[in-house]
Amino acid sequence: MGLKEDLKALEEEVKKLIETASDIEKLNEIRINYLGKKGKIKSILKMLGKLSPEERKEIGQLANRIKDYLEESIREKTELLKKKALEEELKKNKIDLSLPSHWIESGSSHPVISTLIEISQTFISMGFSVAEGPEVEKEKYNFDMLNIPPDHPARDMQDTFFLNNGDILRTHTSPVQIRTMLRYKPPVAIIAPGRVYRKDADPTHSPMFHQIEGLLVDRDVTFRDLKGILKIFLESIFGQDVKIRFRPSYFPFTEPSAEVDIGCTVCGGKGCRVCKGTGWLEILGCGMVDPEVFKAVDIDPEEYTGFAFGLGIERIAMLKYRITDIRLLFTGDMRFNQQFKGIR
Ligand SMILES: [Zn+2]
Repeated sequence: MGLKEDLKALEEEVKKLIETASDIEKLNEIRINYLGKKGKIKSILKMLGKLSPEERKEIGQLANRIKDYLEESIREKTELLKKKALEEELKKNKIDLSLPSHWIESGSSHPVISTLIEISQTFISMGFSVAEGPEVEKEKYNFDMLNIPPDHPARDMQDTFFLNNGDILRTHTSPVQIRTMLRYKPPVAIIAPGRVYRKDADPTHSPMFHQIEGLLVDRDVTFRDLKGILKIFLESIFGQDVKIRFRPSYFPFTEPSAEVDIGCTVCGGKGCRVCKGTGWLEILGCGMVDPEVFKAVDIDPEEYTGFAFGLGIERIAMLKYRITDIRLLFTGDMRFNQQFKGIR
């Protein structure tokens, strides 16, 4: 067979290969094997020297025509394959709007936070403002100015977290009373919600817990005002039928002082494990602001009187939602937290 026939056979061979090539890699392979520097067409062209000038011209032109044609075919096929690949990619990534969507869990307030908000809103509706103070506190504000002397057991290392620089983690929200009265002259009506710290840990005590403090100072404020405000508050949280009693008590920063109990929300007063058989639950401490506290913040106790109260938010949340172990509130266990969905 002559070179002409060889070239024609080669053309047919390559045409078929290009047609059946299913990817770009395969096409590159064909280009190298047939059209490259060491390709089959080149090796045929090398033999042109042995031919007569007429034949050389004819075969040379034919070889170039075939080469151009095949190169163009490879280029076209490459484009086609690229287009196909793109189409497939688009098809694969197409968003199917009929597919069911992923379920996104909606969040909810933690029971401590929803209780805190509920309590705050009750007092805000009665004209109280919200005040805040630092959690790292001076002993002066946490104890001294609240009439808690240096030898008072509450100041013991056993109960209080002391920092290296002599500051403490506040053991109650009461220092906010002091900070508020130093800044503002009466009339003052605030609530101070926030975190407090004590060295205490068991099913009903946590080393960090939340308190809310209330303070009202004005002319002619009486214990009757205190009782009225607390009655409205407790009824709003535990319902209109809640039974309330005041018991005499002692706090260094109030005089007289009282503790407030409500009728047991679990047994209704009959006596159960939660109320330790008494039918009553301790809810908060309160009293009339001690004249010594007023003196410390330069308010004249002859001119002004006031009351203060404080309660633990976790305790209220536990009674409201029948939670038996305070530690459940701080584990972050979603199975626990999700039970309070929809509460607010
Ligand atoms: Zn009970």
